[in-house]
Amino acid sequence: MTDGADRSAESDPGDDTAADYEADPDRSSRVEELPKYLREGLAKQDVESLRIVQRYVDELLDEKERPVERDDLPETADPVAETTDGYIVEELVKCGKDGCKCASGAESDMHGPYEYRYYRDGDGTLHKEYADNE
Ligand SMILES: [Zn+2]
Repeated sequence: MTDGADRSAESDPGDDTAADYEADPDRSSRVEELPKYLREGLAKQDVESLRIVQRYVDELLDEKERPVERDDLPETADPVAETTDGYIVEELVKCGKDGCKCASGAESDMHGPYEYRYYRDGDGTLHKEYADNE
């Protein structure tokens, strides 16, 4: 008698809150994590369109998961190690402070070398992170 929670669940366009969310064991919960427009949009497609989507998804994965290449690193970065998802490099840096000698850009005036880690995130964007492993 008290099961009114899922009334209008099919037609409600704004289900961002997911307050009555309950995982259905028969369906992949990961699919349920996708935005509704994507999930429902895909479910409406015919087989031919889904095959096109499948190829497109493969292309996107290749692009976003492509390894970090040396060419992706700045010229000033000196790779000292390869990681599973990128490189550890040593780099000379400018601190940006007014009047500091590093502003000249000459290698002998710059700070470091410091170690940085280059890697891609889930969007395929290249990131640089200070690697303070000492
Ligand atoms: Zn400086």
